[in-house]
Amino acid sequence: MKEIIIATNNKNKIREMKEKLAQFSINVISQSEAGINIDVEETGTTFKENAELKAEAIYNLIHKPVIADDSGLCIDYLNGAPGIYSHRFAGENATDEDRIKKALNELKGVPDEKRTARFKCCVCYIDKNGDKHFFEETAEGIIGHEPRGTNGFGFDPIFRFEGGDRTFAEFSPEEKNAVSHRGKAVAKFIEFISNEE
Ligand code: IMP
Repeated sequence: MKEIIIATNNKNKIREMKEKLAQFSINVISQSEAGINIDVEETGTTFKENAELKAEAIYNLIHKPVIADDSGLCIDYLNGAPGIYSHRFAGENATDEDRIKKALNELKGVPDEKRTARFKCCVCYIDKNGDKHFFEETAEGIIGHEPRGTNGFGFDPIFRFEGGDRTFAEFSPEEKNAVSHRGKAVAKFIEFISNEE
């Protein structure tokens, strides 16, 4: 069975990626389960660069296959913000609730047609030989006017997937994983490793 380390400390991302990979014969281990306790600084200027930084930092320590993702929410009305700064959008120690409040405040009075946004995700996979592979995906939606739903994490309660009635936080985990930026990027990764030796 293939063994892959997930280079993140974000419990929600670990859960989503494990759920997606569970159907395949891949043993997914979080970095903390692998005994690695580092927090990699995201100094890149793109999702791709940050995903690479995170995967590389872990690979350099253990020289085993690693995947990392970098993701975030890009709001058109805010010129693509918070983007790669999604996690730090409302300051270093802010909560998901703080980040949601800030986004809603900045969109106060903005009509639905100008509230378009997308989640982006880049997965970086470093294989056993140290070769890097990237898988990028997006999920389109619009930003709601108030938080709704209790599933998911981050900006999910204000992200109305494809402008529909429900937010990602009102999707079941399986529904979200089938259409989300991370779910689709991980699906591409799965397709890739299915053909790997
Ligand atoms: P990072 O990739 O760890 O730098 O942080 C990504 C941040 O983007 C998270 O902390 C969330 O605020 C946001 N984000 C990324 N993916 C999702 C998602 O699937 N749902 C909701 N928020 C997300």
